[in-house]
Order: sequence, then C-alpha cells, then structure tokens
Amino acid sequence: MATLQLKQIVKSFDDTQVIKGVDLEVNDREFVVFVGPSGCGKSTLLRMIAGLESTSDGDIVIDGQRMNDVGPADRGLAMVFQSYALYPHMTVEDNMGFSLRLAGVPKDERRQKVLEAARILQLEPLLDRKPKALSGGQRQRVAIGRAIVRNPSIFLFDEPLSNLDAALRVQMRIELARLHEELDATMIYVTHDQIEAMTMADKIVVLQGGVIEQVGSPMELYHHPRNRFVAGFIGSPK
Ligand code: ADP
Ligand code: MG
Repeated sequence: MATLQLKQIVKSFDDTQVIKGVDLEVNDREFVVFVGPSGCGKSTLLRMIAGLESTSDGDIVIDGQRMNDVGPADRGLAMVFQSYALYPHMTVEDNMGFSLRLAGVPKDERRQKVLEAARILQLEPLLDRKPKALSGGQRQRVAIGRAIVRNPSIFLFDEPLSNLDAALRVQMRIELARLHEELDATMIYVTHDQIEAMTMADKIVVLQGGVIEQVGSPMELYHHPRNRFVAGFIGSPK
C-alpha cells in the first residue's frame, strides 16, 4: 500500500478551481518532486497534504487512514518552508526543540533529539546562536532540523532552496539527498527548478494549471514526455 494517496483532490478559492482532480500515490521512502510553473498549484497541494489548507473535494489518505479531518500536528508529517520562519529571539537549540516543547516532551529527551538532528545537519557548533548570527544555508538547516526532531514519516518541502545562492543550492541538494538516505523517510519536495527535479527525484510529478500532466522517473519523463509541455519543462529534445 502507498504511504500517501491523493484521491481526486480538488481545491477552489471562491469560485476558482486551482486544483482540478489530482490522483497520486507516493510510496514509502520515495523522494517525490512536484514541479511546474509558478501558480500551477504546487504549494496549495502540499499545504492540503500537510493539513494547513482544507480540501474542497477528494480524499487524502496516509498509511491507510483518511486524513481530511485530522489536524496538521497529528498527520505524522513535518513541513519545511521557503521562508525559514525561525524565532529570532530563540537559540538554534530552542528553535529546533520548540515543537517538542509544545508537545510536552521532557527537556532531556528534547535535548537528545535536537543533538541528534544537529549531528545529522552539522549544526552542533551553532546550537547556542541566534538566527541572525547564521548564514542563509545554516538557517535553512535549522528549519530542516525542526522537522527532523519530530521524526515524521513524511517530510514536505516547499521550495526550500529558492532563497539561497546558486553554489549553496547545489551543496544543499547534495545534503538533502544524503538526508533522505540517512533518515530513510518519505519526502515530497516542491520546486519550479527542473534541475532540482531531475537530480533529486525518484518520481517527478509535473503540474500545470492544477492538473497533473505526467508522473514518472526523471528518465521516463526525459525519454517519453507525454506532451510538449512536459518535454519543454523537463528539457528533453522532443
Ligand atoms: P505554486 O505554488 O505552484 O506557485 P500556488 O499553489 O501558490 O501555486 O497557487 C495556485 C493558484 O491558487 C494561484 O493561482 C494562486 O493565485 C491561487 N491561490 C493560492 N492560495 C490562494 C488563496 N489563499 N486565496 C486565493 N487564491 C489562492
Ligand atoms: Mg508555491
């Protein structure tokens, strides 16, 4: 059974349908990339999976359980945003442990989880710093660390690298791939960047205008794009 199933998901804002009947299956430990031009509905779809946005129609099923009416904190997911939204007055350690504190996790256990995430992300020397004393890449790692400490079954990333410069993006891509291996987790990653999609994905989902144009591995999409839009977007010669 797939870890995540989307069944005929529809989303309307007022009278405008922005997601128009999306069906998708995401398997355990898969790295799935949603790709498509700005405004095609990537973030809306991710936010519905996260429970941050309601669905207008259709079902979201995680590990066999219908999630439509389950709140974001109880879906077993963690989301990493483009704008890192760190708490400026808190240290790195407190930022990373904050959701655990809210959940009532005792201090020792919190610290242990934060230290483990910091080790994975190479943030150990920075635990006492405030966000303003960090580089962009370091802040992004703290944001990822906040997700890791919650030990989610599915990570959701919404364009996490788009605020970083080109060199750092390349480095973070490699780190995220390593993270995916080390954590053995399912990851859904939104980007409008074809290169990120082609290099990171097990499975690419190409979206346009609120519908899925094609789903496949990078090689499948490259060699067998279903139409000109996919070919153009993936950069294949068709
Ligand atoms: P993407 O992430 O692919 O750039 P979005 O999911 O942010 O696209 O947006 C998809 C469409 O939905 C866009 O036309 C956008 O204007 C619209 N939209 C997104 N959020 C809202 C909202 N809260 N209210 C009204 N329209 C929205
Ligand atoms: Mg978006």
